[in-house]
Order: sequence, then structure tokens, then C-alpha cells
Amino acid sequence: MEELDGLYRLQRLDLTLRVKEEELRRLRTPPASIRQAEESRVLLVKIEQERQRLKSEIKDRELQVDTIQAKIQRLERELFSGKGGAKELLDKQTDQQHQRTRKNALEDQILEMMERLEELDGQLAEARRELTAREAEREKDLKAKAVASAALEEETSQIRRQRQEAVPGIPPELLSRYENQRKFLQGQFLSTVANGSCQGCGVQLASAELTRLRKEGHLPCGSCGRILLAHPPD
Ligand SMILES: [Zn+2]
Repeated sequence: MEELDGLYRLQRLDLTLRVKEEELRRLRTPPASIRQAEESRVLLVKIEQERQRLKSEIKDRELQVDTIQAKIQRLERELFSGKGGAKELLDKQTDQQHQRTRKNALEDQILEMMERLEELDGQLAEARRELTAREAEREKDLKAKAVASAALEEETSQIRRQRQEAVPGIPPELLSRYENQRKFLQGQFLSTVANGSCQGCGVQLASAELTRLRKEGHLPCGSCGRILLAHPPD
């Protein structure tokens, strides 16, 4: 039956379109490399911030050391001059000792911080390399997706044109039955028979039905209601 053949071709276009549209949806989801590049960028910023904080803490302690050093030298000059009473000189000596202890502690801290800074420098270089690599990966993915999407969009618009051309050849009543029912039939309003079974629902046809199908060329499946075609068109 020619009308059913035309509808079968239309259905094939619709099924292809459905697959292509699903592919397009998948292609339009953002690639994982976008998130990975963002994670690398966040890590880089974090390292840079810690590095800046550490550098300013080192600077701060260095200034403290300079101040203490000046104080120690002043005390030294005063002690050397020998001015003042014994008690005063003793106090100055104690103070000088105290200042030296403070200075040593600060210098130890600075040393530790310098070591951490060196570690951070290494981490920063590594993070920069990783970010560059991930950004390149992201660009590559986006480009590949854009190319694939463009090709797929072209393909689907071609199928839509073919569909538009196919529609006028189908009787409106049959077309509206198809449009109403295909959504309940996984897009397969029409189906075929293989090894005596409906290819839509898998149910075996009775031999009388198979005979009728061969004779009439088409028959509704008693189980799923799909119209079975004995000889679907190419
Ligand atoms: Zn069936």
C-alpha cells in the first residue's frame, strides 16, 4: 500500500531525527574540561594568595628584626659608654639578652616561612602548567563539540527538509493518526514482522494473521496495535 509506504519512510526520518536530536543534546552539554580548568584556576588563585600573605608576613617580621637590631645596638653603645649605675647597666644587659632571644625566634620563623615560600613557588609553577594544559584541553573540547554540532545541525535540517517534502504525499487522516499515536509507541506507529513476530512488541502472530498479512500487505498487531507491513519499502 503506497500510503503506508510513504508513512513508513516518514517514520524512518522521524526516528533518525530523534536519534540525531538526542546526540545534539549530548553535544550541547558542557565538557568536563570546563570544570577541570576552573578547578585549576581556583587552585592557582589560592596558592597565589597564600604566597602573597606569606611574603607580607616575612616582610613584617624582617621589619621587626630591624627594629630589634637597632635597639640591641643602642643598648650596646650605652653599655660600652659605661654611663649609669650598676643596677642600670645590669638592667640594660638583661634587656639586651632578651632582645637577642626575640630576634633569634623571629629569624627562625622567617627561615621556616622562606622554606614554605619555596614550596609554594614550586606548587605555583606546577599549578600554572596544569592550568595551561587544562585550558588547552577545554579549548580543544569546545572546538570539537562546535564542529560536531554544526555537522549534526546540518544533518538534522536536511532530514527536516526531507520530512517536509514527504508530508504532502500522506493522507491527512493517516498522518494525524500517526502523529497522535507514535508517542505512545516509541515512535513506531508502523512496524514489521520477523520470524513471525511483531518487531514492535515482540509478540508472535497466529498463522492465520500471517496469512492475512501476506495477502493484504498490512495488518494491525493484535497485541500492540502497530500497523505491520508485510513488505516495508527500502
Ligand atoms: Zn505488536
